[in-house]
Amino acid sequence: MRKQIIIGNWKMNGSLLSIKSLCELLNQVARAHQHADMAVCVPHVYLPYVAENIKGIGLGVQNISQYDNGAYTGEVSVSMLKDFNGEYVIVGHSERRALFAETNQDVALKAKKVTEAGLSAIVCVGETLSERTSGTLREVLKHQLQIVLDKLTLNQLRKTIIAYEPVWAIGTGLAATASQVQEVHAYLRSIVTNFHVELAQDIKIIYGGSLKPSNANELLSLADVDGGLIGGASLSAKDFGEIVKQAKPTKYSIN
Ligand code: PEP
Repeated sequence: MRKQIIIGNWKMNGSLLSIKSLCELLNQVARAHQHADMAVCVPHVYLPYVAENIKGIGLGVQNISQYDNGAYTGEVSVSMLKDFNGEYVIVGHSERRALFAETNQDVALKAKKVTEAGLSAIVCVGETLSERTSGTLREVLKHQLQIVLDKLTLNQLRKTIIAYEPVWAIGTGLAATASQVQEVHAYLRSIVTNFHVELAQDIKIIYGGSLKPSNANELLSLADVDGGLIGGASLSAKDFGEIVKQAKPTKYSIN
């Protein structure tokens, strides 16, 4: 059994005031629903505050430098994240790939940096609408995932979570259908199976893209879905709590 994990991606949202009440409410959610793991990935500047004010919730960020330290103006390192008890890093979110030109190679280097420090990398993969409609979905996903499998050691991959996030579903209100999600998750797991059977049984593959209270039950019930990466709905403790409530233990199904 893999325990599901529900991760909030706050993106570049919030203020000290809004985060204060969000943390208080999220602590209540974590206390009430311990059947699933919970984490929030916050803007770097709020790390110290959130680290001090959440309980029973994992803490992470949305991006990290692929370098250790030095003349990299504007970057934040893994060791800085560790100073504030950060445990998770979202790597290769489609917004970083599209708006900040992150390549598959960058994503693999960052995932390696995060996991070799003992933290968890949430590696995002996902196709654009045109890649889906033109029939290159599997090729695109395989390419995005394989480079990570090839660059990381087995122990580093054990610290990796895969997030399937179809680009066309992010922030659009239009989630992928249950059959689309299960098909892709099973495909991603089969790629990991070809690489290492035991890893494939253990690795978490979570779904992100307009996941909300109204579709959480259906999507989180799917055999190969091990949780969710939540953008918009993670800014509301009520919605996030509703999603966490609907998380369940997942059985693995190797195809
Ligand atoms: C995301 O940005 O990772 C995401 C899933 O966003 P949303 O839930 O708003 O679609």
